[in-house]
Amino acid sequence: MQWFQNLWQFIKQHLWRKELLFKVYKVDDLPENLISSRLYVVGEGDYLWYAAMLCPCNCQATLYMNLSPDEHPKWFLSADIHNNATLKPSIWRKVGCESHFWLRDGKIYWCK
Ligand SMILES: [Zn+2]
Repeated sequence: MQWFQNLWQFIKQHLWRKELLFKVYKVDDLPENLISSRLYVVGEGDYLWYAAMLCPCNCQATLYMNLSPDEHPKWFLSADIHNNATLKPSIWRKVGCESHFWLRDGKIYWCK
């Protein structure tokens, strides 16, 4: 069954990886080490403070998006039945890697 294990490894490393979707992951406090493909949502009860995720360009920067309606700029968060995250508007890092992308249905859509 060695061939099967090799195939499984290949699928996990190459095919599956690309299909990783950002899921909403609710926490009380942001963990020290974030896992990619998780959109951490920090809040209390129904009140959401902010969302955080690792930059999808792999620069290891943590991106913070305010969800509190009283502050600016703010983002609107939604999730589908599979918990795949959508954020509006787009996320644009103005420093470092300058990543600019949309997070929609858990997928990253890069802007030029
Ligand atoms: Zn980046």
